Amino acid sequence: MPVRDSYDAVIVGGGHNGLVAAAYLARAGQSVLVLERLGTTGGAAVSTRPFDGVDARLSRYSYLVSLLPSKIVRDLGLDFAVRKRTVSSYTPAVRDGRPTGLLVAGDRTRDSFAALTGSDREYEAWQRFYGRTGQVAERVFPTLTEPLPTRDALRERIGDADAWRTLFEEPIGVSVENTFDDDLVRGVVLTDALIGTFADAHDASLLQNRCFLYHVIGGGTGDWDVPVGGMGALTDALAGAARAAGAQIRTGHEAVRIDTDGTHAEVTVRTDSGESTVGARRVLVNASPEALAALLGDAPPAPAEGAQLKVN
Ligand SMILES: Cc1cc2nc3c(=O)[nH]c(=O)nc-3n(C[C@H](O)[C@H](O)[C@H](O)COP(=O)(O)OP(=O)(O)OC[C@H]3O[C@@H](n4cnc5c(N)ncnc54)[C@H](O)[C@@H]3O)c2cc1C
Repeated sequence: MPVRDSYDAVIVGGGHNGLVAAAYLARAGQSVLVLERLGTTGGAAVSTRPFDGVDARLSRYSYLVSLLPSKIVRDLGLDFAVRKRTVSSYTPAVRDGRPTGLLVAGDRTRDSFAALTGSDREYEAWQRFYGRTGQVAERVFPTLTEPLPTRDALRERIGDADAWRTLFEEPIGVSVENTFDDDLVRGVVLTDALIGTFADAHDASLLQNRCFLYHVIGGGTGDWDVPVGGMGALTDALAGAARAAGAQIRTGHEAVRIDTDGTHAEVTVRTDSGESTVGARRVLVNASPEALAALLGDAPPAPAEGAQLKVN
């Protein structure tokens, strides 16, 4: 099969991570091609207009922004805004046959804890717990746009031996159980540790700790904000920035194989009209480890075990 085009970088997958990479590489003068198998870019961060006749775009899957560094918004000149939420969560419960629940919503949180648990104890524990994660967030978040620090450098930067141990070294379930007595409160805290993982609160892998940290460090505060126009407003702005910098984005183009000798790669691309090949000095794969293994013809990684369900 003849090699049709060649690029400095071919990026497989036009999710937000692929688009950010495309925009930065193109701005650095590299020739860039993004291959997206779906008809639209954005991956799981896309919007839809669900109400006929109403011009409102809402997030379809991924719906709140926390981990997007403002540096990326500034560097790429994105026209994108977020709004604060007044209510973070509400978890309904029944206590002594009485319907109640836990409302996490700024000033109203203390009263909600008191109504649920009958005292201020759990609320005060909550304040101490999130005060500590807030300090960790302030110190860890800036490292997301810096060269990856070593474990020792990060521990030194955090400068709090207890926080390091409870958040980075022992299963987060230990600290949650030591800090909170109420099972509902424990469950609310653990949501951030378990959602989207296949781990439990005491898993030796500490995958749940990693998940928890990603949920509490965003922006250096851990706040989760609402994107105006849904997540698709962000990914559309990223695609616009990548194109403006000269990147080519092809939707409806699925990468089906990568052949490489370690210095050059050829990517086989499938479209409705057949298969073709593009050359690349570098290939960035913005897809799952399973997809990467399949593209390289490697054995797939071991499948995750277990399952979780979240109802919004
Ligand atoms: C239901 C749900 C809710 C979520 N809520 C939030 C939230 O509120 N906030 C948040 O920050 N995160 C949230 N997340 C996580 C977030 O969506 C992901 O972290 C994010 O989408 C990852 O972005 P990505 O660019 O790495 O990959 P993806 O968004 O997965 O994009 C990968 C892209 O690659 C394409 N692709 C894959 N294989 C190929 C191939 N062979 N050839 C061509 N294209 C290919 C796919 O079609 C896709 O478009 C949520 C996830 C889900 C599923």
